[in-house]
Amino acid sequence: MPNTTVRAIEADITTLAVDAIVNAANNSLLGGGGVDGAIHRAAGPELLAACRPLGGCVTGEAKLTPGFRLPARFVIHTVGPVWRGGTRGEPEQLASCYRRSLEVASAHGLGSIAFPNISTGVYGYPPADAAQIAVATVRDTLQRLTDLQEVVFCCFSAAQLELYEALLGQSSV
Ligand code: ADP
Repeated sequence: MPNTTVRAIEADITTLAVDAIVNAANNSLLGGGGVDGAIHRAAGPELLAACRPLGGCVTGEAKLTPGFRLPARFVIHTVGPVWRGGTRGEPEQLASCYRRSLEVASAHGLGSIAFPNISTGVYGYPPADAAQIAVATVRDTLQRLTDLQEVVFCCFSAAQLELYEALLGQSSV
């Protein structure tokens, strides 16, 4: 962690020139709405062709593909939990998304990674709880994975960004 910059920004994740952006995908890995749809549109049809042979992805796991037409070199596809009240293992599954994505990035020697706010869209995870898990899990995992240089939480609204700024002790003003 001491060598890794962790920060939050408000941006469209498809515009970020990092080594890998994380996709909040669904179990099929065959595309969907929200950030998943935006990433597939920006990456081009090659991304769907690369996802097809992966055979889907279990909730909490992560799989890597090239980024094709994206500025990011790679996409790490992870599948967040659908919120069902919080007592069906959702916190552990969400933490696993962040942990496994960082492990996949590190295993491929990547230096920078950007995360969307996984599960907080259609999957309904309460944003404040999700942000707390995201920050705590990234901080914890970076104790072990010291080769990563930069982790970005890519928020899609000012309200989301505020949550992350408070947790990171970062301020935009
Ligand atoms: P999930 O199914 O995991 O909830 P969604 O795509 O519905 O995934 O939403 C996850 C988060 O991604 C939401 O906070 C949503 O506002 C955000 N989001 C949607 N489009 C983009 C984008 N282009 N860049 C960054 N974040 C995005």
